[in-house]
Amino acid sequence: MEINGYTRTCGLIGNPVEHTMSPFIHNTLAHMLSHNLAYVPFHVEQGQVPDAVKGAYALNLLGLNVTVPYKSEVMASICQIDDLAKKIGAVNTLVRVEGGFKGYNTDMPGLYRAMCSEGIRIEGEDVVLLGAGGAARAVAFLCASKNVARVYLLNRSLAKALAVAKEVNEKTGKECIYPMALSDYRSLPDKKFLAIQATSVGMYPNMDKAVIEDQEFYQKIHTGYDLIYRPSETKFMKMVKEQDGKAFHGLKMLLYQGIIAYELWNKLSVPEETALEVYQALKEKMEL
Ligand code: NAP
Repeated sequence: MEINGYTRTCGLIGNPVEHTMSPFIHNTLAHMLSHNLAYVPFHVEQGQVPDAVKGAYALNLLGLNVTVPYKSEVMASICQIDDLAKKIGAVNTLVRVEGGFKGYNTDMPGLYRAMCSEGIRIEGEDVVLLGAGGAARAVAFLCASKNVARVYLLNRSLAKALAVAKEVNEKTGKECIYPMALSDYRSLPDKKFLAIQATSVGMYPNMDKAVIEDQEFYQKIHTGYDLIYRPSETKFMKMVKEQDGKAFHGLKMLLYQGIIAYELWNKLSVPEETALEVYQALKEKMEL
């Protein structure tokens, strides 16, 4: 694509941004859809988020993604916030509107679309959610909003599990999140679960670890979804498979959060075949 006077610009603000795959996702999409759009990463220093957002508006940017550590902080610098993002308390996508940017969260719908694309249903399921960090919070909101039966939220620090469960139960009006200490996994009911792995344990380069390393736990898991995508088969996934469960990594979540942002910026729907072509290209690029 030729960059010319009509090129629309989107980008990513965060710190660090050097290892991001978002430029690859968005520039590949723009190329495949013949859009005159370029996507650039912007490293933003602590304390500079308001100026960065103001500057992006002044420079006529079409939209921005927001990554660690600014997903909450950026909410003070935008003029509108989508209801879902407000509930989750984290914004990862800014869309240009009259007078500023509107903030959205595409991580959660991205995970939902990724799961649907893998044939995983969460509606009516009993879920074990491992972790209570930023990603796990969004997953807990997703589960509550999709009417899961129950979510057992297990975290190393019980206080964080309690806080996330309380917040999600209160904000969604559904008493479906049950907090537990990670070490109490043996007291999970005796049935089969969908497990969503949302801790950072097992991520490259610490690939020889799983957050729970007891096969007895994995006997209760029919499907394991790991939010980590590097490596493409985590120890958690291996342990799920060893007990005859199905296991998936989080690369499609990354893809679909990007696709949903691209759809919001360009006011269109990306065809599923195009999404899967980008997915293939992304896997090759990452050598996964
Ligand atoms: P975070 O806010 O830092 O949370 C980290 C979580 O991991 C916490 O629950 C923490 O427990 C737990 N944890 C860390 N070390 C642990 C250990 N040694 N033993 C037990 N638990 C441990 O991180 P995040 O933003 O939620 O991200 C979590 C993971 O999701 C990361 O691997 C990230 O790459 C992945 N992710 C993937 C996507 C995607 O698009 N696929 C999107 C977002 C995130 P404590 O609370 O007890 O510290």
